[in-house]
Amino acid sequence: MNGASAPSKADQALIAGVLEGRRRALAKSITLIESTRPDHQERAQQVLFSVLPHTGGAIRVGISGAPGAGKSTFIEVLGNFLIDAGHRLAVLAVDPSSSRSGGSILGDKTRMETLCQREDAFIRPSPSAGSLGGVAEKTREAMLLCEAAGFDVIIVETVGVGQSETTVAGMVDLFALLQLPNAGDDLQAIKKGIVEIADLVVINKADLNPHAANVTRAQWKQALHLLRPALAGWTPTVLAVSALKKEGVAEFWEAVQKFHDALTANGALAEKRRHQAVDWMWQLIHFGLNQQFQRHAQVQVLLPEISRQVAAGEMSPSAAAHTLLGFLNHDP
Ligand code: GDP
Repeated sequence: MNGASAPSKADQALIAGVLEGRRRALAKSITLIESTRPDHQERAQQVLFSVLPHTGGAIRVGISGAPGAGKSTFIEVLGNFLIDAGHRLAVLAVDPSSSRSGGSILGDKTRMETLCQREDAFIRPSPSAGSLGGVAEKTREAMLLCEAAGFDVIIVETVGVGQSETTVAGMVDLFALLQLPNAGDDLQAIKKGIVEIADLVVINKADLNPHAANVTRAQWKQALHLLRPALAGWTPTVLAVSALKKEGVAEFWEAVQKFHDALTANGALAEKRRHQAVDWMWQLIHFGLNQQFQRHAQVQVLLPEISRQVAAGEMSPSAAAHTLLGFLNHDP
């Protein structure tokens, strides 16, 4: 059972276009995935199901950092480097700002100007609606479509705020953190538990103050050494680079490849992706149940009054939750 009926003639052409690596077909199918219209969603699932056997072939890299850390500068340099080396690169964004305000930190079209012009690059800003869960779901699906279209390196970029880093780490093979040579920053990151999900730390703008970059690098190395649970065959790498001067990009890619090789060698990559797929399913179930709950007519009518009663101590939270969840057993 696949949960999808056969695609129409037009969608078969779309699928063929994706599999032939055509960027227009890829862009169109991602638009379909991002659409909230139920008929589009159904078609999107058919397209996805059809290309599924052709997915999984890319190295999936997450890159995160605060606004201004140099993500777009770094990705642009890295992207050009990779394409020159014969890769095809897709850059996707998970942008938590877009889900809150409709605006976007990462969606700006002027970013990565030279990369945008390369035949072998596909750059897609974050979809601009829905909760972070919804945005991330679209990005994951877009990632699969890019793989089906033959892109062999996928970079998922995110701004280092809130939940988005964990979300991205949960969909990639390797998660890299872009930091500034500033001792204050890394302590914050350590507090947020980011150390556990960072496979690679990149101290950018090393050209501004090489000494500070080295100090920050040493601090990170120590923090990763102390706090990071060991992954067989891998010690997280910390690099100092300058995206502006195009320095350290080859070393970064070498570290990515080493990590990927280490994961692949002992079967850990397949295992990691299996876990991610099942986690993803659960996230979608939670997301779907939540939406179903919020939209339920009786819940909508009674939620304000029940919430008031809970706040006033007239009803226990557990009784309230029990009552509200009970509505889900009855249509609509
Ligand atoms: P993003 O918000 O993380 O995407 O950051 P940007 O890539 O837009 O970079 C923010 C600013 O930092 C820009 O003015 C860049 O030119 C500058 N920048 C990026 N990388 C470097 C670097 O390695 N060295 C220096 N000195 N400036 C950089």
